Amino acid sequence: MLEPQMAKKVMTPHILIVEDEPPQAELLKYNLEKEGYRTSLAEDGETALRLVAEDDPDLVVLDWMLPHLSGIEVCQRLRGQKKTKTLPVIMVTARGEEGDRVRGLEVGADDYMVKPYSPKEMVARVQAVLRRAGVVQATDRLEYDNVTLDMTTHKVTRDGKPIHLGPTEFRLLQVLLERPAQVFSRDLLLDRVWGRDIYVEDRTVDVHIGRLRKALNTHGGENLIRTIRGVGYSIDSEAY
Ligand code: CA
Repeated sequence: MLEPQMAKKVMTPHILIVEDEPPQAELLKYNLEKEGYRTSLAEDGETALRLVAEDDPDLVVLDWMLPHLSGIEVCQRLRGQKKTKTLPVIMVTARGEEGDRVRGLEVGADDYMVKPYSPKEMVARVQAVLRRAGVVQATDRLEYDNVTLDMTTHKVTRDGKPIHLGPTEFRLLQVLLERPAQVFSRDLLLDRVWGRDIYVEDRTVDVHIGRLRKALNTHGGENLIRTIRGVGYSIDSEAY
């Protein structure tokens, strides 16, 4: 029997790409649109500010080095206005200095990426920042092997059977499922799951991974969480 469907909030998040190098902008636009995002493009800071005001994007990918008005200045102006104070911003730069990273985050960027970056990694960051900002995406379900994670209902199943997870294990699984077979270091997991501002020991990651592994095997089945000694963890059905 079909159950009545709840009206689900399905939307297409709109990403403003601010980038003065067309090939870079096109590559990112292509990858974001492939994931179901709507995009618009600004080649300089002034245009970026105008498009933010006109189009009300959900997130801005902001290049640091722009003609005239720099990315830093654009970010500062966005943060200085009531309407755009909390607009998610991912700052991008060709420079990799730790000082730049700190400065980018100081002016209020939500995340920071160094060029050259992988478009897939950028898409993952965009998803993560949007989720933190409470923007629900049309693609709200992650699936891998026989595991599904529904980000709207916060339900996890394996082989159709419910898996009960604590909030930390849920978040861990979500991060792992976003990039199946990718090995995540403990540091990266700490950053993604707990956030960079909180001090958590590496050992804590191991404890929660252990709980997640156990929960996923509630109804039996292969172990899906792979341990790569001295490196980290991944979700991988080819693991054993
Ligand atoms: Ca540039």
